[in-house]
Amino acid sequence: MLELKNIKKSYKTGSFIQHALKNVNLKFRTEEFVAILGPSGSGKTTLLNVIGGLDKYDSGDLIINGKSTKKFKESNWDSYRNNCIGFIFQSYNLISHISVLENVEMSTILSGYSKKRRKKMAIEALEKVGLKDHIHKKPNQLSGGQMQRVAIARALVNNPDIILADEPTGALDTKTSKQIMDLIKEIAKDKLVIMVTHNPDLAKEYATRIIEFKDGEIQNDSSPIKEEENQSDKFKIKKTAMSYASAISLSFNNLKTKKGRTFITSFASSIGIIGIALILSLSNGFKMKIDEFEKDTLSQMPIIITEQGMDLSTMKEMANDKDNLKEYTNKKKVYPLKTVESNIHINKITKEYIDLIENIDDKLIGGLSYARMTSLNILTKTNNEVKMMDSTLFSALPSNKDGSDSAVMNDNFELIYGENSNKKEDLLILVDSKNRINEKLLEALGYKDKKEVKFDDLVGIEFKIVLNNDYYNENNGFFFINTDFNDLYNNDNNLTVTIKGIVRGKKDNIFAEMSGTGILYNKKLMDYIIDNNKESNIVKAQNEKDYNVLTMSQFENDDEKDKTIAFLGGEAVPAAIQIYPKDFDSKDKIIKELDKYNKGKSKEDKIIYMDQSEIMTSLSGSIMDGITVVLIAFSSISLVVSSIMVGIITYTSVLERTKEIGILRSLGARKKDITRVFNAETLIIGLCSGVLGIIIARILIIPTNIIIENLSKLPNVAKLNPVHAVILITISIILTLIGGALPARIASKKDPVIALRTE
Ligand code: ADP
Ligand code: MG
Repeated sequence: MLELKNIKKSYKTGSFIQHALKNVNLKFRTEEFVAILGPSGSGKTTLLNVIGGLDKYDSGDLIINGKSTKKFKESNWDSYRNNCIGFIFQSYNLISHISVLENVEMSTILSGYSKKRRKKMAIEALEKVGLKDHIHKKPNQLSGGQMQRVAIARALVNNPDIILADEPTGALDTKTSKQIMDLIKEIAKDKLVIMVTHNPDLAKEYATRIIEFKDGEIQNDSSPIKEEENQSDKFKIKKTAMSYASAISLSFNNLKTKKGRTFITSFASSIGIIGIALILSLSNGFKMKIDEFEKDTLSQMPIIITEQGMDLSTMKEMANDKDNLKEYTNKKKVYPLKTVESNIHINKITKEYIDLIENIDDKLIGGLSYARMTSLNILTKTNNEVKMMDSTLFSALPSNKDGSDSAVMNDNFELIYGENSNKKEDLLILVDSKNRINEKLLEALGYKDKKEVKFDDLVGIEFKIVLNNDYYNENNGFFFINTDFNDLYNNDNNLTVTIKGIVRGKKDNIFAEMSGTGILYNKKLMDYIIDNNKESNIVKAQNEKDYNVLTMSQFENDDEKDKTIAFLGGEAVPAAIQIYPKDFDSKDKIIKELDKYNKGKSKEDKIIYMDQSEIMTSLSGSIMDGITVVLIAFSSISLVVSSIMVGIITYTSVLERTKEIGILRSLGARKKDITRVFNAETLIIGLCSGVLGIIIARILIIPTNIIIENLSKLPNVAKLNPVHAVILITISIILTLIGGALPARIASKKDPVIALRTE
């Protein structure tokens, strides 16, 4: 039972107040066909809208099933419209971008029926109105009468108790009007139908009750309800909700009708995504290349332990501090400055430390070299003149602990001439990529001022290694170098060593590029010299009696003594150690071993190592990160711009779809559902632009890689990380959703009555 009690409704336009309904009192039977007659502007539509809950009355009460609607919430009205009311409008009000079937299905969607059930219900309703064969057409492919039949089917599909028809035949010719009226009459059998018309003939022919309306008031009622009449309370109100899937499908259909615009919008807002995707793939790719490179080469760069060390963090700190010098302080205070000198750590390399290194698993170490300050007493004879060689022209070849050829040598250097049998007598000449060696060395070998020297002229050159006992003469507790070089050269105790081959760093090997040039000797020779010299008089003298050696004074401390002994070939600790890890993992393990030594040691006794590969990679890594961040920041601006653009486009869409908003609301859609529809639209655009952006970026990576390969010889640098792709698509969706959020809210706030009145 439906009852209007003292209903008033007025519209205010500026200072003018239009009283559309003036104190209307009306009761309806649960089953009757009511025609409301009245001139234009008399308030008929307003009355229907108030009855249908589309418009709110100002005062009075609308009683449904004996209950007041004064306390109705939005959601109650939405449910009421959806399952109690079926609207039929003069202008059909069909949603143009979806099919006839989908139009009819719309109210069932809001009622939350299953997809299968919905389709069945819609087809049944369309069968009833005789449109079974037209269900897949779009509304604009139908005639006026057919469109009104669709509207009737839509009003019927949820089997509502009340049908509200606002001049349903107003736009139709007489013959079609009759057919429509017959249809309404037929469906009206067990329902309350309230039909507005200005055609008295139609009213008389079909209605069971005629109410004449004028100036917002009832003039006449042909069949008012008598006191004794009993009406059942059969009207049902059930909650409605549009699922996200339905909102998406509705918006998807709408976007399908605007393919061009959707594509351009998606493309425009994908530009930021493309930019960021490209930057990420480049930096990602470069990082991967650096990683590979690191694993290949840098990891094999030695861990160096020298007498004077500085750790990486201090080095970085100092480098940063230099950059900050442009900032001036106003404080009237003085602060300590970290200097290189004050931060140098003196490494006391001990026997214990050497043992620790010697005990590291062979599998981890590609090569090992100790720099000893030993006196290499080397003589050479060129052009019949014996000369002393400068020992700095000689350096130790990294080798395995047992003195055999190390992986470091084999992997990074190649023998380009001669042979290397790795006997203690074998020496090698290390040249650079252009086959150059230190001028001084060339001069010492007897080729002063020569433009070029044949390999053959170098290979075969012999040197004599003179042992300490022969090299130094003792006199009254002092030791002097034997200056009779010719005599020394021919001493039987000498070891003859020979240049056997020429080695060069392998191509594109940064590690090889970094080692200088010179003569390389192996560990076997080094061991031989130390073995033979540690028993020499001069070392014994040093070791046991604190002898004066040459011009050196008494030793200040043990440390200095050690050094001197080392210098003279005694068994003291080395001055520097280079450990070449086999690979990246080995490096980590070696470092762990080295760190064990420092555990629990005082600051002074700790031994700091320098990890050259870490120094290089930490530099390259942070530069890459910096550049990446800056570029991404730039591209992000375009993301913000596209987000604003999507907002504007969504707002346009809201304006365009105003009518649709009205229709959906009249069918019982909640405000929330309208927000959902537009959020679904922006979600689709966000998804499209994200996916499009990733696809375009993926395509652009191809020429980018070709260009990079041409410039740097590095193939396939740019690589898009799938995780980044997913994140970017998500960002795109979130940003467009944010951009569209405000317009979607505006849409949901639209007054359904005004929305329906817009064309
Ligand atoms: P009818 O359907 O009988 O032609 P309406 O119910 O549409 O009449 O309108 C009744 C009166 O209220 C009219 O004078 C109309 O101009 C006015 N009116 C209706 N809707 C509005 C509105 N949203 N704002 C202002 N005036 C309105
Ligand atoms: Mg009207």
